[in-house]
Order: sequence, then C-alpha cells, then structure tokens
Amino acid sequence: MSKGKLIVYSGPSGVGKGTLRETITSVPEFKLKFSVSWTTRPIREGEVDSVHYHFVTKEQFKKAIAQDKFLEWEKYADNYYGTPLAPVLEAMENGDNILLEIEVKGQKQVLTKIPDAITIFILPPHIDVLRNRLSSRNTENELTLETRINIAELEIEEAKENNRYKHFIVNVDFETAKKELRDLIESELL
Ligand code: 5GP
Repeated sequence: MSKGKLIVYSGPSGVGKGTLRETITSVPEFKLKFSVSWTTRPIREGEVDSVHYHFVTKEQFKKAIAQDKFLEWEKYADNYYGTPLAPVLEAMENGDNILLEIEVKGQKQVLTKIPDAITIFILPPHIDVLRNRLSSRNTENELTLETRINIAELEIEEAKENNRYKHFIVNVDFETAKKELRDLIESELL
C-alpha cells in the first residue's frame, strides 16, 4: 500500500479556510482526512469537541509537549495550538492523505520534518475583506479582532517570503476558489 500524503493548508483567520476545506475533505476519492488539532482556546458556538478541535487546558497541552506528542505546536493570540503526531502517522500508514489546517510558523516546523508536504496558502483579495468577515463572524471581541488582523498581515508577508508555500489561492469569491482548490488537490493526489 502506498503511503498517504500530507497537505499543509494555511491562511489568515477569516479568509474562509473552513468553508473551502469542506469541498475537498468531502470528496471520497481524495481519501483526505482532517487532522484535529489540540487547542487551549475556548470553544466557539457551533464547534464540537474532538471534531473541530480537541479543546484542552493549558496544563494538558504542556504535558503533551513534554511527552513529545506533537508533530508541531505554536502559540497564537495567547493560546496554544498543536498537531498530534500519532493520528497523522496512522493515517499516512493506512494510505490516507491528511490535511493540517495550521498557521505559518507551524507550517515551517512541519516542512523541516516532512519536506515533501504539499503546501497551500489561501489569500484574501484585500486585508479589509478579512476585517469585515471577522467582525461579522462575531466570535472575536475588538481586542482579539485587532490582534488577529495584525497576525494576518504578518502571516501573509511570511507566507509570500522565500516561496514558503507551493500553491496560493486568492479567495475573491467562494465558488471560484472552491473550484481552484478542488482542481489543485485533484492534480496533487489523483
Ligand atoms: P482559530 O482560533 O481561528 O480556530 O485558529 C487560529 C489559527 O491557528 C488559524 O490560523 C489555524 O489554522 C491555526 N491552527 C489551528 N490548529 C493549529 C495547529 O495544530 N497548529 C498550528 N501551528 N496552528 C493551528
């Protein structure tokens, strides 16, 4: 059985990653599993524990770091986020492909360990589009919104530096971006 491939999928908060991602994880031929990260941030309305994230305490997270349980982990807007290693290895051994939806510093860590990972970055057409989407999403208070916009600007800069990502998709409108992403995944996986 051939081993599965690893996809690292990134983009700033509010760019529409979740909506776009569903168009590829729902295609059975892609055999693409979503890696459920651990996070210490509070659960949002509509999120389900162990589906969107494993919601854990800082103590649980730090214990897992000490036990070397993460493929990568990072601190983002005062919370910890990390990719548990065991499910990634298990999926790839089973011949499944796996998708990590993580921020840019985590992507850098993954590439040092798995250099042939397929990397994709979703860009907004303009930074104001992010601000509008994040405000209307209403999951952030003002302070966190500004923090996320600042991080987004840095992330976009970093992603564009030194060809850190193989593929970029600009999410001008969802239908076009969905098709682009689906075509890209098809060419990488099938
Ligand atoms: P959110 O709080 O909006 O769900 O996620 C904030 C950021 O953390 C997003 O860019 C998301 O992709 C990223 N993220 C989610 N899980 C992980 C992870 O396991 N590791 C890293 N490095 N980033 C993550």
